[in-house]
Amino acid sequence: MEFGSRKRYCTLFDLYSEILLDHYRLPRNKGRLDHPTVTVEGTNPLCGDELTLDLEFEGDRLSRVTFDGKGCAISMASASMLTEILQGKTIAEVEKWIADFRAFIRDGHAPEGVEMGDLTALIGVSKLPVRVKCATLPWMTIEEGVRKYRGS
Ligand code: ZN
Repeated sequence: MEFGSRKRYCTLFDLYSEILLDHYRLPRNKGRLDHPTVTVEGTNPLCGDELTLDLEFEGDRLSRVTFDGKGCAISMASASMLTEILQGKTIAEVEKWIADFRAFIRDGHAPEGVEMGDLTALIGVSKLPVRVKCATLPWMTIEEGVRKYRGS
């Protein structure tokens, strides 16, 4: 890691690509949990993305979430961002994030009053229908995980 050599960004697009690539190259919370409460798998056959999420719940809180899998940079970066944002959140907060992310991709901008953080880097995806499924795969997968946990 080189310090003091921060790149200058010409456009927001460059900045967003950089954030995406950073999550793709240095994924957060990648790997498997030894004793997950729930494990869910998701695939996006259109692109070949394969994802496994291990979720550990403590009461109404998602105490840990890790992901594993392979796929395009968008799906893997989106999964990495998801783990970073949702770890430690309550189930109600997780569900709100899922809804907000859905709206963000559908509308092409963040919902009123919501700060999307690194997820903002996925904004370009909303204009690329083929890529929408890549970006939303981790979010649809965790939604199923929450449903499984609630049902158990
Ligand atoms: Zn993909």
